Amino acid sequence: MNLIACKFGGTSLADSNQFRKVAAVVRSDARRRAVVVSAPGKRHKQDPKITDILLSIHDMVCRKMDPSPSIALLRERFLEIERELEVDAAMALHLDAFERSVRDGADRDWIASRGEHFSARIMAAFLGATFVEAEGTVFLTPNGLVDEKTWNELPKVLPESGIFVMPGFYGTGPNGKVKTFSRGGSDISGAILARAAKADLYENWTDVSGLLMADPRIVPDAAPMEIVTYRELRELAYSGANVFHEEAILPCKQAAIPIRIANTNRPDDSGTLIVPEDQAADRPIAGVAGRSGFSILQIEKTLMNKERGFGRRVLGILETKGVSYELSPSGIDSMCVVIDQEDFASTQDAVLEEIQRTCEPDAISVERDLALIATVGHGMAHRTGVASRLFLALAQAGVNVRIIDQGASELSIIVGVDASDLAKGIKAIYDAFVRN
Ligand code: ASP
Repeated sequence: MNLIACKFGGTSLADSNQFRKVAAVVRSDARRRAVVVSAPGKRHKQDPKITDILLSIHDMVCRKMDPSPSIALLRERFLEIERELEVDAAMALHLDAFERSVRDGADRDWIASRGEHFSARIMAAFLGATFVEAEGTVFLTPNGLVDEKTWNELPKVLPESGIFVMPGFYGTGPNGKVKTFSRGGSDISGAILARAAKADLYENWTDVSGLLMADPRIVPDAAPMEIVTYRELRELAYSGANVFHEEAILPCKQAAIPIRIANTNRPDDSGTLIVPEDQAADRPIAGVAGRSGFSILQIEKTLMNKERGFGRRVLGILETKGVSYELSPSGIDSMCVVIDQEDFASTQDAVLEEIQRTCEPDAISVERDLALIATVGHGMAHRTGVASRLFLALAQAGVNVRIIDQGASELSIIVGVDASDLAKGIKAIYDAFVRN
């Protein structure tokens, strides 16, 4: 292995002590040459994140309020880190220039990006590393995704030897100005640098020792996942697991770079390894996740199975009304569509009316407050008994299953239950697969 790209999140950079821990992690392995940093995060629960301070500065300027107190807070945080690390990263000059730009009406994304920018400047000075600017080398599409141009431009500026530090969270948008990814987007920048630097591994350093098999608010002693594939993780993230930024998986997946989630405060813990599909672990499930807030649209019509295009017409109506759907299990004379409740709220009446008019169903109804629970794992393919274990566990816990969906890829089994049964269902499934 030649090169490891590592990204450090906000809590790993909250103060000078955390900066020192990060530097120790980087220096402990000569292959850790490509570094991406977030903006300093919270030092304690009530502490504001630097990015939130920056966003509030912009907000105050827009509302014609005086941003001076927030700018002072920002200065204090960065100058303190610089002073305590005993480095010269010219922070006072950078902060003066920042204040002038803010008062001259700098735009929101540029202001928001400065947390990562300053953080990277200090880290580069502290490590004696090269600072690699993300502006003009990382490019974003109009909807905030990675622009392919990045793969040509970013590798050109990466040094052949030594450590280099790039700020996370931003790049250049289609209009040539600084544009940020969505919140938590430094994970994406880390993945981008990993791919551009042809890293053999992308390490995502945070404040937890890996990803858990279930939400710890529901299963307090949930075990960490040792190994999980990109697709398993995407299914879990989509189904409500609070894992790292979903869009960050893509650049690594495209280049088959494994990702390791590690803990800056406990660097010796093994963490979680996210790997390509062909390296899936042989265990029945990777994890279980769920979320509530869904509605079920149920449609019945005798001889629906003989009516060509019925499903297409229903889904077409949803499409023209701008509603996307999650699942659509169907029977012989019935079909149901699971839709995000909030998305559906404003269009529901119009959708029902249109279906009534064009599909002439015998009955149509909408039920709210459904939860979806996804039990995910490559290991369930070609393994008998996974479904029976799952449904037995739900039955024994007294959870009524409203909807069942198992994709053809056999990567997950999704069940729809009453929202009030969400936690009970997750707990029962976790116990059945992990504790037994
Ligand atoms: N600092 C940004 C945020 O708070 C990006 C990141 O930390 O990933 O969302």
